[in-house]
Amino acid sequence: MIADKKINKLKEIVGGDAVSTAVEDRIAYSYDSTRLEYLPDIIVKAKNAEQISNLFKFANENNIPITPRGSATGLSGGCLAVNGGILLVMVEMNKIFDINTVDLLVDAEAGVITEEIDKKARKFNLFYPPDPGSIKSSTIGGNIAENAGGLRGLKYGVTKDYVNSLEVVLPTGEIAQFGAKTVKGVTGYNLKDLMVGSEGTLGVITRATLNLLPLPQKRASLLALFDKLTDAAQTVVDIVSEGVITSTLEIIDNVTINAIEDYLDLGIDRNVGAMLLIEVDGQEGAVDIEAEIIKKVCNKNNTTSCKLAKSESERDSLWSARRAALSALARVKPSTILEDATIPRSKTVQLIKAINRIAEKYDIRIGTFGHAGDGNLHPTILTDLRIKEEAEKVEKVIEEIFKETVKLGGTLSGEHGIGISKAKYLQMEISPETFGIMKRVKKAFDPNNILNPGKMSFD
Ligand SMILES: Cc1cc2nc3c(=O)[nH]c(=O)nc-3n(C[C@H](O)[C@H](O)[C@H](O)COP(=O)(O)OP(=O)(O)OC[C@H]3O[C@@H](n4cnc5c(N)ncnc54)[C@H](O)[C@@H]3O)c2cc1C
Repeated sequence: MIADKKINKLKEIVGGDAVSTAVEDRIAYSYDSTRLEYLPDIIVKAKNAEQISNLFKFANENNIPITPRGSATGLSGGCLAVNGGILLVMVEMNKIFDINTVDLLVDAEAGVITEEIDKKARKFNLFYPPDPGSIKSSTIGGNIAENAGGLRGLKYGVTKDYVNSLEVVLPTGEIAQFGAKTVKGVTGYNLKDLMVGSEGTLGVITRATLNLLPLPQKRASLLALFDKLTDAAQTVVDIVSEGVITSTLEIIDNVTINAIEDYLDLGIDRNVGAMLLIEVDGQEGAVDIEAEIIKKVCNKNNTTSCKLAKSESERDSLWSARRAALSALARVKPSTILEDATIPRSKTVQLIKAINRIAEKYDIRIGTFGHAGDGNLHPTILTDLRIKEEAEKVEKVIEEIFKETVKLGGTLSGEHGIGISKAKYLQMEISPETFGIMKRVKKAFDPNNILNPGKMSFD
């Protein structure tokens, strides 16, 4: 527990209205979107960079950890206060400043909900391409900290590709500017990109300048059904090999389709092995040509149906199926463990086969969906962790999926980060030498290990 005297001092520093030690607040902020739970001692609402800087000075003097939190949609436990201390809530720093329609930039505070940035950009015929499934609730600061991906990753890349420059409060209290508001910029070390994906362990992002793009003239959405999951996976590989870079290329397997149908009753055939949701965008003529190529590739791979959405409402219904995938699976069993295995796209079929083999071996249900075009799959284990034998089985299943992933030249996490959920597997992929360098970087930024301790096995 933190003594009252220190809490009073903290109130003086950051403002009394920004601090809460009420039990109900502490409980409300003890969760994220994993199944994990850690109780912070104090909640502090971030107001501006100066206030956070003063907070860090206080925390260093008193050896109190600080854990930044956006909207807590994170799926690796990154915003949980594993060592107690201060939970720094960023959501009240939610201003979007001017949109620069000449340089195609937007400037926003870190607590802004990502969809608000995109909505504002669209008023100027521009858009913010990274669109995580959580776009309606996650913050831009959380997206930058996790280097979030999304449904348009194959063509448009991920968050890192749109971060132009950052204002960051370092754990030692300095307020730093990283990057430049230019298209190019190679002055000094690229500390801006070091911050992207640092999972809230190297600094608190307070403000970001982001790149925008002009809205594409046209888009076409297709839904393709397959009897065999492996045919769907092969189609993903073949579409790209044919030279078509789709804006979206999502796969959903039979287990997930059935969960979605139980949840939303969209009328998708429950017997199909898998479906692909495909979108192309760009100039009018080019989109039509690409859609035709995609249809041919689907036919070559035994699609049972490949249809173009005829209207915006038909398109929205396809996308609601994809966006509901995780929520739908979460209704099937008491526990849902969503993984984030990512392989080179050419290995998609092998990984899917391996996941099915593992599910059969351990007699466990796994629903697989995800950003197949990026090789980023979300095998989702449906189980009941209250049963000891099930929990033990899940551990083995996860480990086997990760081993297969790494064996196929893949990576443990494509977008959800390491946090605490995957900390124990980190060194399965990262060599002791690389891990040692990461620890030295952490020490250089945060000598007293004040910021977000207990994550990524650093301590
Ligand atoms: C239904 C659902 C769908 C999802 N779909 C996707 C998807 O398609 N792609 C994807 O990549 N992720 C997805 N996610 C995961 C999650 O939404 C992302 O990781 C997101 O970036 C987290 O943002 P947040 O604001 O909720 O951050 P939080 O969960 O609050 O925090 C995440 C991490 O960022 C740190 N952090 C937060 N704000 C700051 C800041 N200002 N400065 C420094 N560190 C900070 C925290 O300490 C923590 O380590 C999904 C989650 C859900 C629940």
